[in-house]
Amino acid sequence: MNSTTLHAITLRRFDSGESDRRIVFLTQEAGVLVAFARGVRKANSKRGWLAEPLTVARIQVEEGRTSKSVTQAEPITSFPGIRSDFDRLGAALSLVELFAALVPEGSADAGPYDLLLRSLGEFERHPRPVVAWLWGVDQLLLLEGLLPIWDACVVCHRPIRENPAWFSTSAGGNLCADHFESKTARLEVRAEVLIGLAQLVQRETPPGSMKFAEEAARLVRTVVSDQAERRLPATEAFVRSLHLASGSLDSGNLDAR
Ligand SMILES: [Zn+2]
Repeated sequence: MNSTTLHAITLRRFDSGESDRRIVFLTQEAGVLVAFARGVRKANSKRGWLAEPLTVARIQVEEGRTSKSVTQAEPITSFPGIRSDFDRLGAALSLVELFAALVPEGSADAGPYDLLLRSLGEFERHPRPVVAWLWGVDQLLLLEGLLPIWDACVVCHRPIRENPAWFSTSAGGNLCADHFESKTARLEVRAEVLIGLAQLVQRETPPGSMKFAEEAARLVRTVVSDQAERRLPATEAFVRSLHLASGSLDSGNLDAR
């Protein structure tokens, strides 16, 4: 049997059999990897912590004939600074959900692992978790080749002139006044939001603040919902909580037309 040691972040977990779990990890060495953790749902299990999303651990995985199993696990961190704060936890669980939805299995690129680890570190200390979340999602979209053209028309590449501007998830970005067709499903967005998202991609770390972050979060939620092939309940809950907190549910003009 083949045994490998990996650095892993727990993304998702599923119950399996009577006492096992199937865990989806994002690893530094082997990308997204699914492995069984035997017996971790038993009351006396010493490895129950491994199944908690956001856990970072060094794991040993053994490759069986039909599946992989975790044979050893040693915790590295579980981000206590995130878990003690509702907003930070909401942002982090959403980001983890998005990595699970958008990073394909079978790619050994260390980029997604490094990005998620850095983003979770930001969530522990950033004064505005939503800004760290926007940065993390923007970087994830860039890494996976899914980044829309935020601040220029997808047809003629002209930088945004209109405000509010048009954005189309199906077209993959902004559409100028000359190039949107009335049939295209599109959103009306403040130009500052699109320009802000384009600038965020260029940054090595999240900025301290960002204008119209809640409106940007709503747009980003729409973009990732379109790309993910599954429901995104943690992301929906996180973006909804922002609007409740800021009282901006009815302000802003991000409505589907
Ligand atoms: Zn155009």
